[in-house]
Amino acid sequence: MITGKGTKIVNGVAIGKIHIYKLPVYEINEGEASDPEAELERFESARLKVQAQQHALYEKALVEAGEESAGIFEAHELMLDDDDIIDACKEIMEDDQHTAEYAVREGFDSVAQMFREMDDPYFQARSADIIDLKNAMLDVLLGFDTDSLQGTEPSILIAEDLAPSETVRLDKSLILGIVTREGSSNSHTAILARSMNIPTVIQCKDISDDWDGKDAILDGYNGLIYINPTPERRAALTAVHEEDLRKEALLKEMKGLASETKDGRKVKLYANIGGPEDISAVKDNDAEGVGLFRSEFVYLNSAEDPSEEAQFEAYKKVLEALSPRLIIIRTCDIGADKTIDYMQLDKEENPALGYRAIRICLTRKDFFKRQLRALLRASAYGNLGVMFPMITSLSEVRNCKAIFEECKEELRIAGTKIGHVELGIMIETPAAALCADELAEEVDFFSIGTNDLTQYTCAIDRQNAKLEPFSDTHHPAVLKLIQMTIDAGHRHNVWVGICGELGADPTLTETFLRMGIDELSVNAKSILPLRKAIREMDLSK
Ligand code: PEP
Ligand code: MG
Repeated sequence: MITGKGTKIVNGVAIGKIHIYKLPVYEINEGEASDPEAELERFESARLKVQAQQHALYEKALVEAGEESAGIFEAHELMLDDDDIIDACKEIMEDDQHTAEYAVREGFDSVAQMFREMDDPYFQARSADIIDLKNAMLDVLLGFDTDSLQGTEPSILIAEDLAPSETVRLDKSLILGIVTREGSSNSHTAILARSMNIPTVIQCKDISDDWDGKDAILDGYNGLIYINPTPERRAALTAVHEEDLRKEALLKEMKGLASETKDGRKVKLYANIGGPEDISAVKDNDAEGVGLFRSEFVYLNSAEDPSEEAQFEAYKKVLEALSPRLIIIRTCDIGADKTIDYMQLDKEENPALGYRAIRICLTRKDFFKRQLRALLRASAYGNLGVMFPMITSLSEVRNCKAIFEECKEELRIAGTKIGHVELGIMIETPAAALCADELAEEVDFFSIGTNDLTQYTCAIDRQNAKLEPFSDTHHPAVLKLIQMTIDAGHRHNVWVGICGELGADPTLTETFLRMGIDELSVNAKSILPLRKAIREMDLSK
């Protein structure tokens, strides 16, 4: 087995034979042209033909990769009207008496070089677009048919580099994956590969011509390609591939459909996330919102106490990217199993029952206000909900709300734009569940944290593996507290969700729906299987 390593661009696994994609070698007459007038005409006719080709590619990309990616070819059409490029070529044909193909090679290369030398990586990557157009012009002028380069069997395509137009021109039914030696993650080829969802690895310097026709597996998740893979490697990656296919089929079947039972009972299916890096998982799995953004990961991922600005940027990024979905951000739930050096928390005998979450926030007001201000500022960029963790009493909720209002007032005086924010609390202590009627008077929603609710109700440390035999995740006491919370919420017009692990337990989905749950917030991968199960349920029976 040979292993090649590169930079991953599109996740996924491709299994098949290698096909090496080789560009034609252009043989260009370096000497003088006999009829410069005729060369100018050849150039002009090739330019119009390539422009028409780019328009056809635009139409193809529109269907295969969406409007944003197709825009590349609209830009190409315009580039071919660019006076700088046209004049550079014409000068070579008129003044230096060269052929149209010579002029195209020299003229386009000099413009591409200009882009390559720019500081901005975005503009650097545009040089590939100019080279793409140069090759399209040369294909027309020299009569090459690049469509025949692809081969006729579905295969993993290996190339030195791929231009955007080559990527779109390829027959997708014949492309299992793409590996290139060159390319940048900013290139339009990478953008197109992403929107067409073809497993892709670039900058793989190990590529070799004698891989042609060999059995291979491309592991787009890790930027690796295996030539003649061992049976163990094949089995492991085949399992990953099959799981991907299963998910893809489910996605096709379930994407965009309502999470609704046969008898019309709707439930919101939201995702639990840890930060901006999970945005694509939310979109890919068609989550209708985010029911729990564990903001403590923003703190855990930082070497020092994150500034208001750093937090604002993280929250804004998620809100903007996922707008108009509702994004519920839980305020910092640090302590117990989640410790951070810069917080300088004392070691405690019973950390799960100790100084944690809202207890820290309410006693370190500046720390809390920094987060609330960042959240309020971010609220202008989407649809935000904020919830407080580890609530046990009415006074805690009132104190949180008072500090929240204080921040709001400060921002209002400063003229800072803020949006509407839904306020909620986590119900994850028995005390909160038992006082849910009183607490409901104060908030817009409840989110039941079944992980801690189970821990505190059953007095079982969730961190202690030795206690597994004593743990009953479906303990009737926990289910009773959930029912009480839902009923109390509904009595006060407060919607109720579950964001603990139990929300993703398919054996309880029907029970929760019958209890009246309004929302389930689960790991992104569980969303579509749950939607499928919900759509097959009939609660009238
Ligand atoms: C919970 O306790 O159920 C919960 C969702 O919060 P965490 O797991 O982060 O404590
Ligand atoms: Mg919890």
